[in-house]
Amino acid sequence: MTMQNLTVLGSTGSIGVSTLDIVRRHPGRYRAFALCAHSQVDKLFEQCLEFRPRFAVLRDAALAADLQARCRAAGLDTEVGHGVEALVALSAHPEVDAVMAAIVGAAGLEPTLAAARAGKRVMLANKEVLVMAGELFMRAVREHGATLLPVDSEHNAIFQSLPPDFARGLAACGVRSILLTASGGPFRNTPLADLENVSPEQACAHPNWSMGRKISVDSASMMNKGLEVIEARWIFDAPPEMIRVVVHPQSVVHSAVQYVDGSVLAQLGNPDMRTPIAYAMAWPERIAAGVEPLDLFSVARLDFHEPDLARFRCLQLAYDALAAGGTAPAILNAANEIAVAAFLDRRLPFLGIARLNEAVLNALPAGPEGSLDDVLGADAEARRLAGQMVAERRFA
Ligand code: NAD
Ligand code: MG
Repeated sequence: MTMQNLTVLGSTGSIGVSTLDIVRRHPGRYRAFALCAHSQVDKLFEQCLEFRPRFAVLRDAALAADLQARCRAAGLDTEVGHGVEALVALSAHPEVDAVMAAIVGAAGLEPTLAAARAGKRVMLANKEVLVMAGELFMRAVREHGATLLPVDSEHNAIFQSLPPDFARGLAACGVRSILLTASGGPFRNTPLADLENVSPEQACAHPNWSMGRKISVDSASMMNKGLEVIEARWIFDAPPEMIRVVVHPQSVVHSAVQYVDGSVLAQLGNPDMRTPIAYAMAWPERIAAGVEPLDLFSVARLDFHEPDLARFRCLQLAYDALAAGGTAPAILNAANEIAVAAFLDRRLPFLGIARLNEAVLNALPAGPEGSLDDVLGADAEARRLAGQMVAERRFA
């Protein structure tokens, strides 16, 4: 096994930290070549001290200069850059073998696309990339010979439950449907009348997974599952009607594939993202991830039921955006990023997220997803409109 050089986009986040834990466990196999974060200088400096990357990146020049000075003082030769250009350059760097795409939201699109265009092994956690630009991204993967490995636990489970040559077509592989499991989040049983006034703290307290704040709110609204339906549509080239959401509160079955002969293949495990991260890093091999073995006796039972689309409007909106096609999913994603930020700032009630998303999706016509500029244009327009609606307190 030769040493793999990694660029970690979003190294200070929940997925980034778990990725570095796998690196720490396998020092002869992976090297953190570039560590990239937004503004957590202290945390990135600590990571630099431990992993001694060749490069580090922060949002702006002032933060980068601060980190550069600290690295020098500590005797590290890490070179610190800043901004999107640095992220793009390090995702496509000739010495990089694999890129962990773990930035949250639209900010990850350009560097992740650059990794695909450079033919890298792309380990994708940043689902918003596929929601915004699924067609463009998958074309880049195909045309540049990149290897796409899904890190999102459901998509990783589906990937593990499909034959290796699934790219020849799901129907040709005998797939009847994809069963995308969802925990249902912290508000699965909250009376609808109480949902209006739930707090950001309640929304971020996920019953089974510990994650960044944006995805935690998305899980509470089930927008996360909607984004994942769109993500599955692109990774597996699956028609939307083939993708069924199954609420499974224990989060032990991470997703499944149903075949025409009656077989259902699933991947099970404890809810720990280091399993799909390690799988994506080592594929086609398997390596230890520090995850406790699943104890079926203590799990004891597994429950499954239909999602409540009236309670979780956002899930339906994702299917609507997929049906509309073109830039509609990018519009929905942008509206949702603004809505979640406004909810976390207490400028929008929880149910306002779905109302705002629906209003923006309905107000803006979807165009073709021809180029990156088309996607970024739709994204900017939807952010502007959503921001205006928040400022006017339209859904407060
Ligand atoms: P997080 O908020 O914990 O971390 C986000 C990371 O991205 C941080 O390192 C931050 O510094 C960086 N970042 C944010 N904005 C940036 C910008 N403009 N430029 C550069 N870096 C930026 O988020 P997370 O929970 O780790 O999630 C990351 C992605 O993975 C999301 O797309 C999420 O949907 C997906 N995902 C997460 C989990 C999970 O368990 N946390 C599971 C499945 C998928
Ligand atoms: Mg997921």
